[in-house]
Amino acid sequence: MAKRDYYEVLGVDRNAGADEIKKAYRKMAVKYHPDKNPGDKTAEDKFKEAAEAYEVLSNQDKRAQYDRFGHNMPGAGGFGGGGYGGGGMNMEDIFGQFGDIFGGAFGDAFGGGGGQRGRRVNKGSNLRVKVKLTLEEIANGVEKKIKLNKYVGCTTCKGTGAEGGSGFSTCGTCKGNGQVSRVQNTILGRMQTTTVCPECSGEGKIITNKCNTCFGNGIVEGEEVVAINIPAGVSDGMQLSMRGKGNAAARGGIPGDLIIAIEEIEHEHFKRMANDIYYELFISFPDAVTGTQLEVPTLDGKVRIKIDAGTQPGKLLRLRSKGLPSIEGHGKGDMLISINVWTPQSLSKEEKEIMEKLSVSKNFIPSPTKKDRGFFEKIRDMFGA
Ligand SMILES: [Zn+2]
Ligand SMILES: [Zn+2]
Repeated sequence: MAKRDYYEVLGVDRNAGADEIKKAYRKMAVKYHPDKNPGDKTAEDKFKEAAEAYEVLSNQDKRAQYDRFGHNMPGAGGFGGGGYGGGGMNMEDIFGQFGDIFGGAFGDAFGGGGGQRGRRVNKGSNLRVKVKLTLEEIANGVEKKIKLNKYVGCTTCKGTGAEGGSGFSTCGTCKGNGQVSRVQNTILGRMQTTTVCPECSGEGKIITNKCNTCFGNGIVEGEEVVAINIPAGVSDGMQLSMRGKGNAAARGGIPGDLIIAIEEIEHEHFKRMANDIYYELFISFPDAVTGTQLEVPTLDGKVRIKIDAGTQPGKLLRLRSKGLPSIEGHGKGDMLISINVWTPQSLSKEEKEIMEKLSVSKNFIPSPTKKDRGFFEKIRDMFGA
């Protein structure tokens, strides 16, 4: 089944603000909540669909990527576990991630009646890195190994925060549920409202004997070398994410993501225009007149090209598929060579005499035809319109 547009799913405008998106999601989740629609498969699907849309649109980075690529994520094999939501979220994910959006009113339902589910799971923060790439690297895709300074799990306490792995006691305030509840009247009737336990921050347990290495946090400052697979065809400003490669979470929670911002290093020969690359070639005046063969650089080595006799400056040559690959895998761009004729800046006495002789010769008097004048057509061709 084709995926629906996330904005359409939530019924919001493409430039909707964070609050509007949150409100729209809350509305959908209330409407299709499984507790209100027991046994209704359609409602459940709608509920999941809305949660997936919200997962992406509520996250600035994911939203930017989605706006750019839609459901066709770059490098579906390498990033974010195969795209958004990894092919659908399950109910546990939804309750675990978005339970707090309901601000208490639905806390009980989302908390699953106060069992294990109610306990807050710590989430590590995202890390951002910039990766600078040459056009050659972009053309072929590349693996970059990057050393990250980040929070890693404490090895002394195995990330638990407790010395010797034994020093936990159940939180007295919430009796280990991680939440404290009270009954409240709402527009939907009497609801049990639930908030995160202030004593244990929702973890349900308290460390009695804190680890000396990490002071009970379960994480310490450290480093990790991460191999980042950059797919071919990325461009400047694009962001990729690797799920779980960000900072480790306190006391064994879910690690954050690594966000990779792509920067393109300016090439000494080429300018990039979408997936095409553009090269300006200067040829000598005699070569333009008599024609020749010349070597030009491309992204994968040199190639020989033919310059026809009588070539006018401004002529464009197209080398098919010598550009950059499309990130969505739809073929490759072209390389466009713009021919420029080099006019000598100084002449010897002898050269000057030759030029003076040529200047009165009939063949050297400009007489452009319509074909030679096609400047605007060339521009149009260049942009493939
Ligand atoms: Zn520790
Ligand atoms: Zn507690």
